[in-house]
Amino acid sequence: MFKKGLVLRFPAEIVDQPIVWRLVKDFDLSFNILKATILPGKEGIMVMELSGHPKNVSKGLQYLRDLGVEVKTVGQEIKRNEDLCIHCGACTAVCPTGALSVDRETMQVVFDPDRCSACELCVTACVVRAMEVRLEREAL
Ligand code: SF4
Ligand code: SF4
Repeated sequence: MFKKGLVLRFPAEIVDQPIVWRLVKDFDLSFNILKATILPGKEGIMVMELSGHPKNVSKGLQYLRDLGVEVKTVGQEIKRNEDLCIHCGACTAVCPTGALSVDRETMQVVFDPDRCSACELCVTACVVRAMEVRLEREAL
């Protein structure tokens, strides 16, 4: 089964519509929502894994784009620049997968790349820009 990590940004005017349900019903896709947030302006951001036949995933993403949803795929790799990280912990609050966590004994922030979905939320959350995107974003 083909699986794709996605960051979806829903405009405020469609945030209440059953869009994800249509992905399941009309495109035979399954999903795993890692994080869903409604921003103050009512814009919605959802981090999810979408699974199904590659052609159906592609059609489903086109359906989202046609509705005005901003779709970013997350095929890239996230690395931490150990020289820059000051272990402030800010990134652990936004990481939806638990890839960033605080070791309670050492009080150091631990990064587990195997749990990372490359959603980039930590990249913008990190004040010293220690979290870096290393590969190009894929285009479906
Ligand atoms: S937000 Fe940046 S500096 Fe702070 S712990 Fe995370 S990676 Fe390190
Ligand atoms: S990109 Fe950052 S916030 Fe997203 S899953 Fe990976 S470590 Fe967590």
